[in-house]
Amino acid sequence: MTILNNDFLALTLANPKEISPFHFTFPSGTAFVEDTGILRLEPTEASSTSLVLSAGIHGNETGPIELLNNLVTSILEGQLTLNIRLLVLIGNPIAANCSKRFCEVNLNRLFSGAWQNYEGFEADRAQQLELAVSDFYQKEEQQGEQVRLHYDLHTAIRGSMHEKFVVHPFVEKAVYDKEQLAFLASSGIEAVLLSHQPTTTFSYYSHAAHGAHAFTVELGKVHPFGQNDLSRFDDLERSLVLLLQEGVLAQKPLSTLQVFSVLEALIKDDESYELSIADDVKNFTQFEEGYVLARSEKSQYQVEKNGDAIVFPNTNLPVGQRAGLMVRPIELEALQLV
Ligand code: ZN
Repeated sequence: MTILNNDFLALTLANPKEISPFHFTFPSGTAFVEDTGILRLEPTEASSTSLVLSAGIHGNETGPIELLNNLVTSILEGQLTLNIRLLVLIGNPIAANCSKRFCEVNLNRLFSGAWQNYEGFEADRAQQLELAVSDFYQKEEQQGEQVRLHYDLHTAIRGSMHEKFVVHPFVEKAVYDKEQLAFLASSGIEAVLLSHQPTTTFSYYSHAAHGAHAFTVELGKVHPFGQNDLSRFDDLERSLVLLLQEGVLAQKPLSTLQVFSVLEALIKDDESYELSIADDVKNFTQFEEGYVLARSEKSQYQVEKNGDAIVFPNTNLPVGQRAGLMVRPIELEALQLV
C-alpha cells in the first residue's frame, strides 16, 4: 500500500478521523503512515537529526499545510533526497475539512497534558499528537548527540507589521540558541517573540518534554486551500530543503531579526471585556504610554511604555482565555546567546 498520487494531504482529508497504520518504501527511505495526519519518514542512512514539521494545528491555516504536503510529495517521488529523520503532522484534519480554526476547543492550548481538562476529539487529538512526537524522538537510532527540532507552522487571523515571526518557547535560564535564530532569519522570519512563561502550545510541549529546539512559526495571513501564494514561503522552503537533504541549518546574520519580549498575557476576565483597537489592527501595532488598551467591569489595562505592542488580539473567546499578548521590542545585544 502507498499514498495515492503521493498526496498525503488528500489522504488525510479523506480520512480525517483515523487511518490504519501502513508503511512503504520511497527512493531515500521508508514511510510510516501511523494514523490520520501522522507520517513518519525514516531515511535509509541513520541520522542524528530528528525534525518534526507540523501544520494545521488550526484547521483553516492551509498555506503551511500545502507547503508541507509539497515537500512530502517531492520526497516520496524522489526529487528530494531525505537524509534526516522527519515526522510530518497535519494537526486538525476535521477542522480543516470545515475550514475552521477549531471545532470545539483551540487545539494549540491543549498540550503538555492540558487535554486532560477537556473532552471531545480535539482533546483526544492533542494526546495523540503528543504521543506521536514522543514516539518519534524515542525511536532515534544513532548513538551520541541527537538534534531534535520542531517547527510548528501557522498563519495568523490578522495582518502583521512583521509578516513572518516566531514565538520562542519560554526557556528557564533565558539563554537562546544562536544557530536556531540564524536559521529562522534565513527562513524569512522577521521577528522573534520571547515567551515569558510556560504555555500549553504544541511547540512548548516539544521543547519542555523532549528538549527540542521548537518554535511556533507564523507565516502570514490565513487563506483557504488553493488560494495561498506559496511563493511567500520561498525562504522557508529553501532552508527546509537544505535541512532535509543535507542536515544543515541555513544561516543568516541575526541583525535582520527584531526581538520582542512578552510582557504579559491579556486575559479576558469578564464578558464585558473589550480592547480599544480597530478590528483589523495588525499584530505588533505599537501604542503610547498610558493608553487604556483594555477594559472590563473588573479591570483595565494601560500601556506601560511607548512602543509596547499587541500581538494576537482576540476577544471572541471564553472568559478566562488569552485576549492578546503585550510585547516590548528589545535589543538583540541584550540577549544571552550560545
Ligand atoms: Zn495557528
